Amino acid sequence: MNHLGLALLHLVSPFIKVAAGPILTKRIKHEIWESFDPTVGVDMAIEKTPLQAVRADRRCDQCAEGYFRPTGVVLASCPAQYPHRCSICDRAQTFTERYPHVVYEDAKA
Ligand SMILES: [Zn+2]
Repeated sequence: MNHLGLALLHLVSPFIKVAAGPILTKRIKHEIWESFDPTVGVDMAIEKTPLQAVRADRRCDQCAEGYFRPTGVVLASCPAQYPHRCSICDRAQTFTERYPHVVYEDAKA
């Protein structure tokens, strides 16, 4: 039982009591409890791969020295856009991602 499972159980248990009565409630609670227990069964379809975190940064293509940094403004378009300014020449450019940010890649063997 993880914290999410406990929180969910506390959230739904009053409704289960009202709907099913005290005897059924105990059985349903037990089933919900088991479904969040990580020791009950192992899902063989889940693969776990070692990762490494890298920083994705965007260099300015005008001065080739500075890096774009977010202005703090978010344009609520779809997808959202993030205005940036070059740290050296102050060039303005808007991207659909903020820079720098973390990217997870498969770990090198
Ligand atoms: Zn620049």
